[in-house]
Amino acid sequence: MDKTIFEKILDKEIPSYKIYEDEHVYAFLDVFPITKGHTLVIPKKHSRNILDCEAETAAHIGAALPKIANAVKDAFNPDGINIIQNNEEYAGQSVFHLHFHIIPRYKDKHINFDNLEVKWPPQKLEAADFEEIQNKITSKL
Ligand code: 5GP
Repeated sequence: MDKTIFEKILDKEIPSYKIYEDEHVYAFLDVFPITKGHTLVIPKKHSRNILDCEAETAAHIGAALPKIANAVKDAFNPDGINIIQNNEEYAGQSVFHLHFHIIPRYKDKHINFDNLEVKWPPQKLEAADFEEIQNKITSKL
């Protein structure tokens, strides 16, 4: 089986803006962010999605999510935060390595999460923007 993009990120074959790492979990900025601070949290152990993931893997991710979500909250002071996890193509999954989206939400920015044709129109950001966002979040961890 070919590696997914996220396994390539874990193996450092593809660069990423790292937000958090421990023995079991890695978090990094989504390269096509819906809002500033959009972060992905993945297990180091591969599973396709939540449906084939071991309880232990889910527990490791579960332990990391509040820490990272609170760092995103403290960095950007959003009006809310969505944590979203898509399973299979019809439900919006496009990368088949389990991942959780942490998405800051703002009152004036409506997002249609169920638009599968124009999925989550991303913000256009430069490398310097990603570095600034990375620094803002990691300084709150
Ligand atoms: P899904 O659609 O599977 O729930 O989410 C996959 C996410 O991965 C999308 O939000 C997409 O923007 C993000 N993504 C796809 N390719 C890359 C990449 O090469 N690097 C990073 N950091 N994110 C990616």
